[in-house]
Amino acid sequence: MAERVVIIGSGPAGWAAAIYTARASLEPLLIEGEANQENFDLGRPPLGQLMITTEIENYPGFPAGNLESYLKGAIDESRQHMLGPHSGHGVSGPELMALMQQQGINFGTRVLSEDVTNVDLSGHPFKLTTSSGNVIEANSLIIATGARANYLGLESEKTFKNRGVSACAVCDGAMPRFRNKPLVVVGGGDSAMEEATYLTKFASKVYIVHRRDEFRASKIMAQRVIENPKIDVKWNSVVDEVLGDDQNGVTGVRIRSTLDDSVTEELEASGYFAAIGHTPNTEFLGGQVDTTDKGYIVWPVSHRTNTTVEGVFAAGDCADDHYRQAITAAGSGCSAALDAERWLAAKGLD
Ligand code: NAP
Repeated sequence: MAERVVIIGSGPAGWAAAIYTARASLEPLLIEGEANQENFDLGRPPLGQLMITTEIENYPGFPAGNLESYLKGAIDESRQHMLGPHSGHGVSGPELMALMQQQGINFGTRVLSEDVTNVDLSGHPFKLTTSSGNVIEANSLIIATGARANYLGLESEKTFKNRGVSACAVCDGAMPRFRNKPLVVVGGGDSAMEEATYLTKFASKVYIVHRRDEFRASKIMAQRVIENPKIDVKWNSVVDEVLGDDQNGVTGVRIRSTLDDSVTEELEASGYFAAIGHTPNTEFLGGQVDTTDKGYIVWPVSHRTNTTVEGVFAAGDCADDHYRQAITAAGSGCSAALDAERWLAAKGLD
């Protein structure tokens, strides 16, 4: 029998959709993705991008404080490995996700730890094929697969991946190879500011390489960077090559001026962190749902989460290249749940 609601994706959008559809007695099935190395390497782990961030300062309802006893009381013992040590700070990304997951499970959400490899949206119910070859039928679908970090596309980034090249300072920054050494972060947005600031905990010095002469980042985060004596900004510059060798991995980068192509400089560094934006995880849809030229799912009706396929809804970063915040993702997950619930009711499929 077809599922009434299948949610693909397990970040804030997916779990908000699960909480709402579960409370509406729709018994949602949430497909969270596989916890394999490839998904971690690509920056799309189960429970989403908050799993690779540290403290969440801007999610309403979670001020800094001693959350320890609450977290231990709220989250099942089997999932308490996601809790960090607490000493008065705010909630961490993994903790916030563990809470959302627990809330969804408390209301009866079922979880499948596989990837969706293929969808057939040409008929109804929709058909989803998962990585184990399972075929799942769904009367309605909420796509909440998020987005993943971009790289510059240099061959040398691939060569030294996991040997000094990373797109996640929070995941990798504490590794011995990055300690007390100079590191490089590329980008000028909030992610680059966050990564660079975080890396100053470990590095002897952090270079930010940015292609323009001003940051895109929010003022408060940019100001923290400018005032940090351990950060040196290389303005109007791009990384031409990640330098390294077999024995040591990354040993530096070669940068080129964007003002005068002929001017290059080599920076010694044991790590290179790309922080230049994201790509939505929508390839598996095979073009069956309309997307923008960057692959973000289109919401054709203003203030609704409908996609161009009736009965298919989208929420979070896979459809939103503008706000891209945990709170906006969760908000659109809620909207998608309500839209799906109303659509099912109108079709008599609830
Ligand atoms: P972003 O705002 O799109 O910034 C990407 C940066 O990378 C830009 O500075 C861009 O340069 C640069 N860039 C892109 N492609 C490049 C290339 N090929 N070569 C060199 N540089 C390149 O992405 P983001 O920083 O990941 O932030 C995404 C969203 O998440 C934003 O809305 C941000 O506010 C939010 N965010 C919030 C927090 C927080 O509040 N704690 C933390 C992280 C992210 P240009 O500026 O020249 O375009």
